[in-house]
Amino acid sequence: PQLINQIAAGEVVERPASVVKELVENAFDAAARSVDIEVEQGGLRLIRIRDDGCGIAREELPLALSRHATSKIASLEDLERVTSMGFRGEALPSISSVARLTVTSRTRGERCAWRVTADGTGTDFDVQPTAHPEGTTVEVRDLFYNTPARRKFLRSEKTEFSHTETLIKRMALSRFDVGFSLKHDSRTVLNLRPAETQAEIERRLGLVLGDAFLENALTVEFSAAGLKLSGWVGLPTFSRSQADMQFFYVNGRLVRDKLVSYAVKQAYQDVLYHGRQPVYVLYLELDPALVDVNAHPAKLEVRFRDSRMVHDFLFRALHRVLAESKP
Ligand code: ADP
Ligand code: MG
Repeated sequence: PQLINQIAAGEVVERPASVVKELVENAFDAAARSVDIEVEQGGLRLIRIRDDGCGIAREELPLALSRHATSKIASLEDLERVTSMGFRGEALPSISSVARLTVTSRTRGERCAWRVTADGTGTDFDVQPTAHPEGTTVEVRDLFYNTPARRKFLRSEKTEFSHTETLIKRMALSRFDVGFSLKHDSRTVLNLRPAETQAEIERRLGLVLGDAFLENALTVEFSAAGLKLSGWVGLPTFSRSQADMQFFYVNGRLVRDKLVSYAVKQAYQDVLYHGRQPVYVLYLELDPALVDVNAHPAKLEVRFRDSRMVHDFLFRALHRVLAESKP
């Protein structure tokens, strides 16, 4: 299965940040309240993710590393209504085919933790008892050590780390209820406690996007025809370089979508006659049956069943907020 896993890894694991994404999503799926991420040398040498979630039982550990053994999709209907973040059951096997993977986990009430190291063949798993608090730590070392062609496509350690940093910021703004910490080569880059009150939420927003954004942001809260949009949009007085300052979530999932950026930009231009890329953190909620989240394995793209309707809704919502704020 190693070859199959490596082929699958081509879709799932492009760079260190894609590994981090899969592992943090697994922590979310495990109902973790806090996730600690440590990265060394841009993630090439080490990615270590520790969560306080439900853990993996001893007998499940080898299965978790086996391809499709754990897929959460039981039927076609499930495909239409995917609610958990992961659903393909191939992240861990894919990662283990292109890196040295160790999973250590302890479930609630278990007397000790168990550790399994994948040997790369994808069939043989050695499970050993060890010490670990409730939850899971996944360690990924020497990414792409056995696929040098893949490794050649990576950028500098600094650039690779910045992809991970952006990703964690995006995730931190989608899960205010989860605490995050991020370290690079032992330096703490982000440290975010779980946020519940409005003050805590805004504090996190300031830590992630800078206080200048907060001071110039308008609050969005708009519903119509079963769609709901909330979040913040920045006023043009706030100008930092922009593409990595646009956050759009559909049903809690980060999305990068041309239709969305276009609708936002249009609303800005219409009200403020302003061509600059706006800064925003927006959350769209709609019936999961109206959106296809499985359009791309990296799960950043979505397809709306009725994209015209979504576009018009976004435009109307933002147009109203911006127009109201206009002096
Ligand atoms: P998927 O998330 O698509 O099911 P993965 O390969 O990402 O597949 O993970 C395989 C399985 O391992 C998961 O379904 C889950 O049961 C278990 N698992 C992985 N990471 C964790 C974690 N951090 N906490 C608890 N269980 C986990
Ligand atoms: Mg997963």
